Formats: sequence, structure tokens, C-alpha cells
Amino acid sequence: MRRKVKACVIGAGSAGLFSLGQLRKHTTDFAIINSGHLGTTCARVGCMPSKVLIQAAEDFHNREHFAASGIDGAGALSVDIPRVLKHVRAMRDTFVGGVMGNFNKGPARKLVEGPAKFIAPGVIEVNGEEIEAEGFILAPGSRPVMPASWAAFGERVLTTDNLFEQEDLPGKMAVLGLGAIGLEMGQALARLGIEITGVDMLETIGGLEDEAVRDEAIKLISKDLDLWLGDPAELEEAPDGRILVRAGSREVVVDKVLVALGRRSNLDTLDLAAAGVSLDERGMPEIDPATMQIPGTRMFVVGDANGERALLHEAGDEGRIAGYNIFADEIRAFRRKTPFAIAFSSPNIARVGKTMKSLQGRDDYAVGTRNFDTQARARVLHENAGLLHIYGRKSDGLILGAEMIAPRGEHLANELAWAIEKNLTVWDLLAMPFYHPVVEEGMQNALYNLAAKVGGQPDGVIEVAFSEFK
Ligand SMILES: Cc1cc2nc3c(=O)[nH]c(=O)nc-3n(C[C@H](O)[C@H](O)[C@H](O)COP(=O)(O)OP(=O)(O)OC[C@H]3O[C@@H](n4cnc5c(N)ncnc54)[C@H](O)[C@@H]3O)c2cc1C
Repeated sequence: MRRKVKACVIGAGSAGLFSLGQLRKHTTDFAIINSGHLGTTCARVGCMPSKVLIQAAEDFHNREHFAASGIDGAGALSVDIPRVLKHVRAMRDTFVGGVMGNFNKGPARKLVEGPAKFIAPGVIEVNGEEIEAEGFILAPGSRPVMPASWAAFGERVLTTDNLFEQEDLPGKMAVLGLGAIGLEMGQALARLGIEITGVDMLETIGGLEDEAVRDEAIKLISKDLDLWLGDPAELEEAPDGRILVRAGSREVVVDKVLVALGRRSNLDTLDLAAAGVSLDERGMPEIDPATMQIPGTRMFVVGDANGERALLHEAGDEGRIAGYNIFADEIRAFRRKTPFAIAFSSPNIARVGKTMKSLQGRDDYAVGTRNFDTQARARVLHENAGLLHIYGRKSDGLILGAEMIAPRGEHLANELAWAIEKNLTVWDLLAMPFYHPVVEEGMQNALYNLAAKVGGQPDGVIEVAFSEFK
């Protein structure tokens, strides 16, 4: 059986659902196909449950400051991991419920549940039904990378797809991969009392490229977990059903392993070759990041599936771009927003705008710096640790980028991303009001430090104070 629709969206995750707002301006004659669970990766197993787990860990960790603040009894507090996980699932259910509430109001009527794959150009097959469409938005998301040989360890090897489904967790675990996800989960589990070894083959964590910020991050995160950097992890069976984790010359025996080696696109499940699309050696088509189009087709790849900016707000933008372009008379190229990424570790790790790697070898930028050890608001919060580097153009102080491990860095990163988005200079930012006492004053110090190293100060605007600040 074959039916024809004007448009077909594959994947009812965030990117696919965001595309519908624009798509529906062109047509209501569309189908949305989804395999697996509805409710989006973000709400089900991603952004939201991970933050709930982190919050539980932070709440428990804060007991360490109670005695100094005059609050007794911290030593009597304990963690009940099964109840923590139950709480994560309960909160997760409310987030998924929110997504599904909107989904059921509209898109559900167009839903076909099952795995889609192309059988010819312009035609997919799902559950034995053929669907022909004039345009496609491909939003099948991504899945955790898992080396095939590790499947033999069965349920002792977890990913974030099943971490929150566990009824309980053992006392000793390893987290393999210390990008944002591994770092967040590894530190949270450690703060909940699980002994964690964190392993990454890179010499950095959280994607940090600025050496000084990276060193500070390694120093601070090492307080919670044993960090092994620079060697790839290997797994072996150990006695008593446990797992031996080896990396270089180091080894440890653990009860379970959380694998966070990154995520790979699900585009390979769609058989794009059958759609007549040429693929590179990684099996990926060419995708224009400004239009989301596979050039020369009415096919658009959005969200994690395109392997570019695997973040929720980017999935939203990409969905909207594709939804706009799918039936536009003229395909429109959109300016993409300032890239930034946050790991919700404690302190937060963030990268904004131009990365240190992209600046290396250039002599036209300066670095404004602020260590948070003595920052007033951070001290009140018991979070006075971290380092912020802001990169600015030497000629005029244009803000180029930043890296940080900083208390409440999530806010600093957002504010700096907005500044870069608006082409603001250090002078523009220093002309803004900063309340007292807030963590942003630490950013103000870094800006003063940067201002002392760049040109472009507008006449009579600001007298630079603290320029000697280190
Ligand atoms: C643990 C974790 C924490 C994260 N934290 C953050 C964070 O703090 N901030 C942030 O911005 N981002 C975060 N992310 C990333 C964010 O969740 C993703 O970038 C975003 O959810 C991707 O949305 P998507 O629409 O591309 O994919 P999804 O929401 O996964 O949607 C894809 C859908 O397509 C379906 N599908 C797959 N193949 C097929 C097929 N062949 N046919 C039909 N349907 C198919 C899938 O089952 C799925 O329902 C996190 C991710 C994880 C895993």
C-alpha cells in the first residue's frame, strides 16, 4: 500500500517537532514517523533527567558547608540511591508529560509509529506501508556510541539511555568518556557516594581547549572522582562478575560501567543510499548548515542526526530552518547563532564563541582572566573556585569567545554568548550595570582585565579600574 503526502518528518524528537511550526504554514498534509519511545531524548533520557540527578547530588553535597554555617546534623544525612533514581524518573515523567501534552494536541494525529527507511527516491517504508512525499525532514536523532565487544558485559555496562531506569546502583563504577555527559553523570554519582573512576583518552575534560582553564578544571573535578586521562579504556571480565577497567598502566575493578563515549547519528538507519543520496566514507550526506538541506534535494537533516551541534536549542533552530525551507520558493540560508556549550558539572564548565584551538597561532587577541577563589558572591555560595578566560580582539576589544570552569557558569556563558551574538566589545559590556553581590562581578573583573590589554576605548566612557587584577 502506498500513500502520498506533501511532507514527511522522520523523528518525533525535539528537532522534528520544532520543524512542524514552520512546516504547517506550508501544508497540513504531512506525516510524522517515529520509532521507539515518544517524548524526546531531551525530556526522556537527556537534558532533563540528567539535571535532576545532578540537583540531588548538589543538594547532598551542600551538607559539607552546613557545620561552618552553624547548621548541625549534616553527618546524619545519607543517600538512598533507589529513591534518588525514583525521584529522577518521577520528574522525568512530568517533563515527558509536558512534551506529550503538546504532541497529543496536534502532531499525534499525523503520527505513524515504526522505523522508517527509504526504498526509493521520495519514498519511505514504515510497517509495510509506503509513504511518498515531496519533501522530507530527517530528524532521527542519535544513539550512544558503544563498542560492539562491550555488549558481552550485558547490563553491567550502562549508557544514559538506561542509567535512569536502574532500580539501584552499585558502590563502585567507572565512567568512560568525560565530555559533558560523562562528566556531569560521573561527578553527580560520585557526590551521591558512589566511588567513580573517570577515564578519557584525551588529556582534557568537558571539551576544554584553554590549557589554564583545563588544568583548573582537572584540579577541581579530581576532588570528586579519580580522573584517568590520556589513555583509552579497555574492559575485561574480573572475578565475581565484576569488570576490570584498564587504561594505560592503570586498572581498577568496578561493579558497573557508564559508557559516555559520545553519540552517533541515526541517519544510517534510514538507508539514504536508496533515496539516491551520495554518502561520504562515514555514511553521511553533505548537509548545508545554513539551510539544513542536502544540496539538490528536498531533504533536510536536523538535530543530532546531522552530527554538527548536538544540543537542544540548536535542534530547535535547525527544525525551524528546515520547516521554513522545505517548500520555500527560494531556499534561504540562515545565520547560525553563536556556538556555546555548557557541562553542568560543579563548577560549571562552558565554552562560548571562538575556541582556543581556532585562535591559536593568531596574535590579534588578548585574554581577560579571573580566578574565582576570592570572588565575593561565590564565597557566600561556598562555590569560590574556578577560572574564567574571556578572549577579545586586541584592536578594539570585540568579544570573541570564552572558556571557563566557574560557579554559576551557565549564566556567564549565556551572557557572553549574547554579547558575541550582538558583536559587543569589552567596552560595551563594561558600560552595562553589574549588581552587587553577584557572580557576574567576577565576569566584570575578567572584562576589566581584558580591557587593560586591548584598544578601542571610547572617549570618556569608562575609567578602567582593577586593570592590574590577576
Ligand atoms: C544525557 C544527556 C544529557 C544532555 N544534556 C543536554 C543539555 O543539558 N543541554 C542541551 O542542549 N542538550 C543536551 N543533550 C542533547 C539533547 O538532548 C539532544 O541534542 C536533543 O535531544 C536532540 O534532539 P533530536 O530531535 O535530534 O533527537 P531525538 O529527540 O532523539 O529524536 C529523534 C527521534 O527519532 C526517532 N527515530 C530514530 N530513527 C528512526 C527511524 N529510522 N524512523 C523513525 N524514527 C526514528 C527516535 O526514536 C527519536 O524519537 C543531552 C543529551 C543526553 C543524552
